[in-house]
Amino acid sequence: MISIKKGVEPDSLRYYRRTPGANFDGLDKTELRERLLEEQGHLCAYCIQRITGKGAVKIEHYEKRTTEDQLEYKNLLAVCSGNETLKSQNGRVVVIFFKAVSSDWLTAFC
Ligand SMILES: [Zn+2]
Repeated sequence: MISIKKGVEPDSLRYYRRTPGANFDGLDKTELRERLLEEQGHLCAYCIQRITGKGAVKIEHYEKRTTEDQLEYKNLLAVCSGNETLKSQNGRVVVIFFKAVSSDWLTAFC
């Protein structure tokens, strides 16, 4: 089991969220990626493998993305790109399940 302590969201995300019509796809994710990797110890939230290199990281929503919470920091996780194939093959990612144990913590059960 691995727990992720969700820290303070990056300023770029907080400011962008105030923009009218702001959505996840339009967000500059540079700072967000760095912050997520830092708080996860550079480990993928799905498979716990170390994420190395800029192009290797992807941001996923813990709870399915909605218009209201798509830019909610506590709902965002860094994952490696390695599970994309698994996801499309199985229709869902099954390696590890994350469970919110409080508003600030996400816990992975393997
Ligand atoms: Zn992974």
